[in-house]
Amino acid sequence: MDYFSYQNGNLFAENVKIETIAQAVGTPVYIYSKNTFIDHLHKMQKAFSEIETTICYSVKACGNINILKFMAEAGSGFDIVSGGELFRVQKANGDASKSVYAGVGKTDNEIIEALNAGIEYFNIESQEELENLITIAKKQGKKTKAALRINPDVQYKTHAYITTGVKETKFGVDIEHAINIFDKYAGDENVSLCAVHVHLGSGGKTIDPYVNAVKKILPVIEDIRKRGHTVEALDLGGGYGADYESDTVPSAQQYADGIVPLLIDKNLKLILEPGKSICANAGILLTRVIYNKQGGSKKFAIVDAGMNDLIRPSLYEAFHFIWPAKVDEKFIPSQREQNFKTDGTEIYDVVGPICEGADFLAKDRALPPVKRGDLLAVFTAGAYGYTMSSNYNARCRAAEVLVDGDNFSIIRKRETYEDLIALEG
Ligand SMILES: *Cc1c(COP(=O)(O)O)cnc(C)c1O
Repeated sequence: MDYFSYQNGNLFAENVKIETIAQAVGTPVYIYSKNTFIDHLHKMQKAFSEIETTICYSVKACGNINILKFMAEAGSGFDIVSGGELFRVQKANGDASKSVYAGVGKTDNEIIEALNAGIEYFNIESQEELENLITIAKKQGKKTKAALRINPDVQYKTHAYITTGVKETKFGVDIEHAINIFDKYAGDENVSLCAVHVHLGSGGKTIDPYVNAVKKILPVIEDIRKRGHTVEALDLGGGYGADYESDTVPSAQQYADGIVPLLIDKNLKLILEPGKSICANAGILLTRVIYNKQGGSKKFAIVDAGMNDLIRPSLYEAFHFIWPAKVDEKFIPSQREQNFKTDGTEIYDVVGPICEGADFLAKDRALPPVKRGDLLAVFTAGAYGYTMSSNYNARCRAAEVLVDGDNFSIIRKRETYEDLIALEG
């Protein structure tokens, strides 16, 4: 599933020893495996090859331009949610005509930028947004295509903050509304409303929500077509499971096995917007233990990465497997599970240096005994890790390193104190 493995007790990313990177670049540092990205993309391309499919990698999950560059070269389009992400795609020579633009609050400037870039579809989240797009496109003398984001109202188990496919969200429109919007705007000269977008959110661990969403949306598409409108594409969004623990999510092939048969002969292009299923386990966050501390009955490992570097545990109570980068033979992990324990481990809270109670990377976690200076790898940190990091507590953001086979390169330098104040006049 990924290219991080222990060899003689040392963690490697592809063929590069993690300790070597720590010595050269310092910590905390995000370390990505290029071949994991490519492997996940290829698996998805192959799984869905029976129908015409465009894969639009979600830039917000992990958007370093060096990563976007090789994803573009490997045939990926992009899913963007801001003008800044469009800028990244352009800087990476990404193909705007294979890219889609979602987001509930696109500003006029962002819309103009995306029109000029020639993105394939605007994913429309509200009637007012569509009206505004039409107005701007007319004024600019541009033509573009749009997909209407419809909430299929399917529910599934995930964290409340990352459920988006239900009625009561700020995203998209409900089914009844959708039909009216097509009736009213589908004939516009500048903006061709000709596709449907569905994005369920994140974190489902089965294919069912996708299968149910497709089953629910196909009759709606049928309905729209019967009223004389064109629907050429279905964009199924992202949210496909990522392997945060071992083997707990469906593979690309399993998603395809459920989805493709429903769409064959439906005369629909398929668009997918995978983020974390491509990049989550393509990256680790490497951090160093600064201090050990005992508080009551609790052991703390205080590390040099905090919630400003990786906010998912604090924000979503997300689980990340954490393990030392160098271990005795008996501690080589066979699984990356929540409750992975082996003889001789001790229970720790792994916490950062930030002045916040919520600043933790793991709670009550079994770890081999760690000491000051040890390196810990926080696994499956490739998605929503670096991209959600901040300078809180005036901390310099971590460096990003890309490993490709035997080589590694710094794809984003560690910030300096001067960077922290550079825009403050
Ligand atoms: C965030 C997002 C994605 C990617 O989600 P993942 O859970 O990382 O796959 C795709 N599409 C849209 C519209 C998004 O907002």
